Amino acid sequence: MNVQMNLTTTPKQKPVDESNLGFGHVFSDHMLLINYTEGKGWHDARIEPYHNISLDPACQVLHYGQEIFEGLKCYRTPKGEFQLFRPQANFERFARSAERMGMAPLPVEEGLDTLLKLLSVDKEWTPHEEGTSLYIRPTMIATDAFLGVSASKTYLYYVLLSPSGAYYAEGLAPVGIYVEDSYVRAVRGGIGFAKTGGNYAASILAGVKAKKNGYAQVLWLDGVHQRYIEEVGAMNMMFVYEDKKIVTPALNGSILPGITRDSVLQLAKKMGYETEEARMDINDVAADIKAGRITEAFGTGTAAVVSPVSKLCYQGEELQIGDGGIGHITMDLYNTLTGIQFGKIEDPMGWVVKV
Ligand SMILES: *Cc1c(COP(=O)(O)O)cnc(C)c1O
Repeated sequence: MNVQMNLTTTPKQKPVDESNLGFGHVFSDHMLLINYTEGKGWHDARIEPYHNISLDPACQVLHYGQEIFEGLKCYRTPKGEFQLFRPQANFERFARSAERMGMAPLPVEEGLDTLLKLLSVDKEWTPHEEGTSLYIRPTMIATDAFLGVSASKTYLYYVLLSPSGAYYAEGLAPVGIYVEDSYVRAVRGGIGFAKTGGNYAASILAGVKAKKNGYAQVLWLDGVHQRYIEEVGAMNMMFVYEDKKIVTPALNGSILPGITRDSVLQLAKKMGYETEEARMDINDVAADIKAGRITEAFGTGTAAVVSPVSKLCYQGEELQIGDGGIGHITMDLYNTLTGIQFGKIEDPMGWVVKV
């Protein structure tokens, strides 16, 4: 796809202090935009200075939430090169999300190819400090100016780049999790597997409630029985049994199929651990934590990579996992996966794509 270049003549000052970048506050000089029109397909790919977008207030995304997004990172390696981690998987998921939301899928090759063009312009916005990266946010919104509920005939795809700080500025930190047994995030036959804003909108109130109770995140149960474990916050959930076996809820349509989840499962197998995808009853999990059979637990996602869980609060009872610290398998997986992503150790899986 031909990408029109309209580069800025007034580049911004890049952040000097990388220690307080945080997440998603700062944006690079440029953005990528591509339009879709029914009958014409994807057209007018362009890289422009980062700018506000103008939308008709009647446009579909603002009323009915026809929107999808992705999240991945560009890493600066010790050799000073730049690399992505399994970006094809993000664009494949983006296409599946588009299909579920009745939107126009962006071909995987076009997504990756145009992203690499944007990065060729702005990759120097990738910060340098340990654990920092350039967060990449592909987004698609429905732009028909029409209040009827229907699939839009026009879409806008755009990509933002945001230099972001280390998720764990002071080392991996275990968090307490609140098992939510009244609100649900997604339901069978719904949009849980799609990366779409609506799932996040459904989750916000429960997140506020968990924080009010002193917990970092919500553990989501399934939307049918409110009994089977689905995800933790916006991460996938894993439990280590008896110091050797990693078990995670099987994908069922309401769980988001995380690329970190898949990577952890593949790596764990290669590292000699047993793995299993299963339906996990919260009552069994609670009993297994109490009996000491569950020795570690952690969430997985692009932002944190691995997030150790120290305890669950279930029906008013606090259940501490192991000694409440960071388990050695959790640590091992975190170090290996981030080592590959940041180019510090060799990639045995062919996951890394050079920019
Ligand atoms: C993005 C996301 C994840 C994690 O997916 P990764 O590909 O590992 O970043 C998990 N759950 C939800 C709800 C998500 O939106």
